[in-house]
Amino acid sequence: MDPIGLDRTLPGLMPTQIPGLERLYMDRVILMPTSQCFAYCRFCFRKNYSHKATDGDYGTPQQHFAKAIKYIANDPRIKEVLITGGDPLMFPEKVLEIIDKLRTIPHLIGIRIGSRIFTSDPDLIDEKWIQPFKERNQLSNDQMIQFSESCRSDSKIRKFENSSIPAPVSISPHINHTDEITVQAAKSLLLCTQNNIPLYNQTVLMKGINNNPEVLLDLFRKLRQLGVEPYRVYHADPLQGTEHFRTTLDEFMTIKRYLRAHGSGRIVPSFIVDTRVGKVELGADADILRRVNETVTIKTPYTLDQFRAVIPDWEIPEYCSLAEDGRLIVEYEDAYS
Ligand code: SF4
Repeated sequence: MDPIGLDRTLPGLMPTQIPGLERLYMDRVILMPTSQCFAYCRFCFRKNYSHKATDGDYGTPQQHFAKAIKYIANDPRIKEVLITGGDPLMFPEKVLEIIDKLRTIPHLIGIRIGSRIFTSDPDLIDEKWIQPFKERNQLSNDQMIQFSESCRSDSKIRKFENSSIPAPVSISPHINHTDEITVQAAKSLLLCTQNNIPLYNQTVLMKGINNNPEVLLDLFRKLRQLGVEPYRVYHADPLQGTEHFRTTLDEFMTIKRYLRAHGSGRIVPSFIVDTRVGKVELGADADILRRVNETVTIKTPYTLDQFRAVIPDWEIPEYCSLAEDGRLIVEYEDAYS
């Protein structure tokens, strides 16, 4: 057994009371239509999901979807929805059904889908597969006219209003190494990016797999060439059964500095640590205050007020404290060196 023991990364979640609808931030939520995946990835806490049914332990059972959509529609502070799971693109019809409901909510500005379909089963993606996603990202002539008419014209300068533009859909592949970009995978990525389905990649840094800055530069350059935004690199979470994959935060930051020095701004992603109160970028929006053995104390950009704005009686968890400026300070388990 690892010296670390989390079985998921988000214990700071604010309760929505709806199975499969998770909220950690004020402006976005996670909706999980399934707990099944194409793969069982060792580095991911979802490897522990049942992977048995579309409405398993962690998915949103069918009877709760209406409640989830209503929850999102009733809170205009929610701007984005991430559809994840499991891997939602195992069930594209279900995802399209959800997208159509979400696109009727005027305060949403974006719908994101997280999936490893591009590397797990790229042959599924063909012209027929992408068509409904492409169509949803294409505004019709009527929608363009409606958009134009909805813009305020109470002065000489007409102001942009977003309420008549249905939320566009983007997909996040999860590619960790160029070895995963087979010809079939590259073709599936290109089919999306050439057809108005934006892709933004997320990578987990793993010891012995991709903790080499040249390997990562090669990956991010190939992604950029395929039209995929290299969006984020994650420090491997402190999860059960993953210690052998984890790099230290020191190595994580050293690799980040190398990439910043050797790659263009368009190919170097943000380097993110997933703390128990939200994702942070060390040296940018968050700082390490102290370290005791492997436990580091991080001052996050998140404030108590943000959590209390959603859950008025939200209590500071035992692994957190409050800085004088109202920001939350959280403990994080670094890898064993
Ligand atoms: S990385 Fe994606 S495909 Fe792999 S176990 Fe996690 S959710 Fe499933």
